Amino acid sequence: MEQIKLHDKVFERYIPHAQILEAVQELAGRVYEDANGRQPVFLVVLKGGMVFATDFAKHYPGDMILDFIRVKSYSGTRSTGRMEWLIEPSENLEGRPVYLLEDIVDTGNTLAFMLDRLAAYKPAYVKIVSLFHKPEAYHKDIPLDFVGIEIPNKFIVGYGLDYDELGRNLKDVYQLKA
Ligand code: 5GP
Ligand code: MG
Repeated sequence: MEQIKLHDKVFERYIPHAQILEAVQELAGRVYEDANGRQPVFLVVLKGGMVFATDFAKHYPGDMILDFIRVKSYSGTRSTGRMEWLIEPSENLEGRPVYLLEDIVDTGNTLAFMLDRLAAYKPAYVKIVSLFHKPEAYHKDIPLDFVGIEIPNKFIVGYGLDYDELGRNLKDVYQLKA
């Protein structure tokens, strides 16, 4: 099994690029059907969602608008972690179908914060498109509309996902070695 080292940790190759691309392509098709002829706004959640969004956009067969958001979370002393916008949507979202493009939904804390804040922009709806999801770690009752690949509760890197900013440019996804 191919291994890599980022900072102090060792990771093993876990999901090959071809399998990821297949999941992304399938997601693009499902979302296109869901949009049902309407022109969606895709909100890419930076930084992690960038690589996913690039391939997603290439496989999306209809008209679409790309926009970007970024949320900053303060780890602080409290485990709840306060959050705030670092980059807000720049497009007008009012009355429009909005899809969040997320790299991964883990506990769901980030997602809950973003959905709460996005409501103020009065979109027609906000649906969630997450490439990866850890169902074991998820503790919200917000349904995830589109999930690419479900994974166990282990830390992954690659294809946009980082370990302390390294690893985003890996084509495959790697899992932290036990
Ligand atoms: P949540 O708020 O759902 O717990 O986590 C959201 C964010 O934590 C994700 O958007 C991602 O940035 C980060 N995250 C969660 N799980 C992983 C993981 O396995 N690997 C990496 N690199 N980041 C993760
Ligand atoms: Mg993210």
